[in-house]
Amino acid sequence: MKELTKDKRSFIEKATNMTFLDMSLKGTSLKYRICYYGAGILAILFFCLVLITPAGVPILEYHKVNDETDDVYTVPVKKFTAQMDYLLEAGYTPISLLDFLRARKGKQELPDRPIIITFDDGYEDNYTTMLPVLESRGMKATLFMVTNDIGQPGYLTWDQLRDMQERGIEIGSHTANHQPLTTLDDAQANDEMKLSKLILEWNGIHTIFGFSYPNGAYDDHLPSMLQQNEYLAAVTGDAGFNTFETNPYLMQRTNIPRPRFGLMEFRLRLFKAELFAHLGIEQHRNS
Ligand SMILES: [Zn+2]
Repeated sequence: MKELTKDKRSFIEKATNMTFLDMSLKGTSLKYRICYYGAGILAILFFCLVLITPAGVPILEYHKVNDETDDVYTVPVKKFTAQMDYLLEAGYTPISLLDFLRARKGKQELPDRPIIITFDDGYEDNYTTMLPVLESRGMKATLFMVTNDIGQPGYLTWDQLRDMQERGIEIGSHTANHQPLTTLDDAQANDEMKLSKLILEWNGIHTIFGFSYPNGAYDDHLPSMLQQNEYLAAVTGDAGFNTFETNPYLMQRTNIPRPRFGLMEFRLRLFKAELFAHLGIEQHRNS
């Protein structure tokens, strides 16, 4: 059948005083028409129910925020600011990883729409650019530092790290050397966890309990190794939301790379993570 333009369709609908749906159902028995409409209403109700049920807490993964570098890990300052403003407008309240873990133990209440904003690697722009944007909006964040990069060109210094901590940024470990732990033997992986935690704590950073896997690479035995090293939680690069049933050593996290399609792309990334959580795709439940 020939496709009609929108104008022609509405002209015919007006002239016949019938919608195209009515016309297509004309001649169909009442029983089938009720089934048809009923199925449609049920499908709409199902999707509404899925979308209004909270899927858990999203965690965002950032690296650099500046206007000087243009690699995939860099979000320009204006775009980052727009993303943060969107989160606030959408009713999200940033919490720390510790807030989530305390709530998990029943020791703290979470706000209505909690979200955790994280930064990996510890680039200097996290101090010069990211911090003022978050601070002026009263937003918290968590930073995972590679300890052997502290004070290197382009990376945070000890003074900056300590100042960030004072100003509401929670610090965690991203190992000492940023090598994917799955490429190391057990003793080396253990050293990376232990050394980075000790160095941070020796230098005046509060107890380190959060960990971020370099390159998001993990395997079955790394969670227990982290537990032995007195970490309480670790974040992956696997999209999804986190509930109190999520394995705390394999927390779901949504990567936010340099955007190519503006704020819509950011919203779609969040939506994809929520959908994965609702449908149970690649979600790490407690075993
Ligand atoms: Zn990294």
